[in-house]
Amino acid sequence: MSKLIATSIALCLAVIGAYAPLRAQQAALKVFISVDMEGLAGVVAGTDVSPTGRDYAHFRAIMAAETNAAIDGAFAAGAREFVVRDSHGDKTNLLPGDLNRTGVVLIRGASTGPKNMMEGIDASFGAAIFIGYHAKAGTPNAILEHTSNGNVIDFSINGVSLPEGGYNALVAGLYGVPVVFAAGDRALTDQLKSLLGPIETVAVKEEIGGDASRGLSPRDAQALIGAGVERGVRNRAQLKPFKMAGPFTMVLKVRQEKPLYKGAERTGAGEFKFTSPDLLDVLNAFNAMK
Ligand SMILES: [Zn+2]
Repeated sequence: MSKLIATSIALCLAVIGAYAPLRAQQAALKVFISVDMEGLAGVVAGTDVSPTGRDYAHFRAIMAAETNAAIDGAFAAGAREFVVRDSHGDKTNLLPGDLNRTGVVLIRGASTGPKNMMEGIDASFGAAIFIGYHAKAGTPNAILEHTSNGNVIDFSINGVSLPEGGYNALVAGLYGVPVVFAAGDRALTDQLKSLLGPIETVAVKEEIGGDASRGLSPRDAQALIGAGVERGVRNRAQLKPFKMAGPFTMVLKVRQEKPLYKGAERTGAGEFKFTSPDLLDVLNAFNAMK
């Protein structure tokens, strides 16, 4: 090798080396994980997910374990920052010390804004993940199906009836973030795939009549969740953010009527309509009247 070539190679390596820190400064892949409880492995009864229930502590630990499995799967796919939103009840179910990895931010407690189960989402995320989710109110063959609270009969936007995973996917879509994975019972995974397209899912259980369910052991569910989240995050560029063209018209049907939100219209017994070009304002109206 001539001295000139050797010097040129050394120079090239020095230039590459100088740019390496720039590459390292590229934003780390960040994922948003919203975690509910009704769709966790083994959960079949309201008492399983109620702080006063006999086995709440057990299912709370399973909630943390499924969350950790999702984080590990996303890490394997290259994610280095994780925001976890506790999305059940008063949102104080996940115990901070139960989350294993570094790089995890936990959002706990009820929030006042329209995002609710998606509190903390913005355009900095590469993917959104739903763990422990359940089907919407009125879904047949579903476990603990409901929409937001026991008062909602149906919630639709622009004629599309939406489960929590549907309108939460719309919130993510507002920021261009695709939902890449969801875990829950079979009814939930079927419902979200028909709404969101070919996202990765794990059905951890299915209803087999009455209040009975047949399901995976928590360890098996966690292994499948980790692998499914990894595939989903790797495949994120192929998945479209869930969006609807505005303006957004919601129709909300409830059992007990609440005071009318400003600009909303009562269209029948327990039925309300509200239209806005701002999806978050529609969710404000939903949260006020649900
Ligand atoms: Zn819940």
